[in-house]
Amino acid sequence: MTCPSCNQTASSFLRSAFSLQGVSFSKSIQGYFKCQNCATLLRVTSFGKLFWLFFVSTAIVLALFVLLVPRILSIFGAGATEVIWIILVFFTVFVLQFGTWKFGHAERVDTDTTSTTNAST
Ligand SMILES: [Zn+2]
Repeated sequence: MTCPSCNQTASSFLRSAFSLQGVSFSKSIQGYFKCQNCATLLRVTSFGKLFWLFFVSTAIVLALFVLLVPRILSIFGAGATEVIWIILVFFTVFVLQFGTWKFGHAERVDTDTTSTTNAST
């Protein structure tokens, strides 16, 4: 993801996956983050087509797994099924994090739009 303010990479994948990137948790899950170079407040506003491809394919994998649970249970047993499920969930989270980081489009957020609207014109 490129920062629209400084045209540098706004965040590394590890930073986006394992930190709140300079905002509160509630802001973070809404897609807000701060650029690692210039600390501009940004928000993920849209995703590229590849992100949705990622999203749909992981959803299909999860759905298939859920459908196949009775079979997997009978073949591998409850313990192994649980492990596979946890791996799948982690994988899904990872893929979505990666998709957001790689294909997300960030836009600048003006934090004080109400106070600067009159001053700028
Ligand atoms: Zn920046």
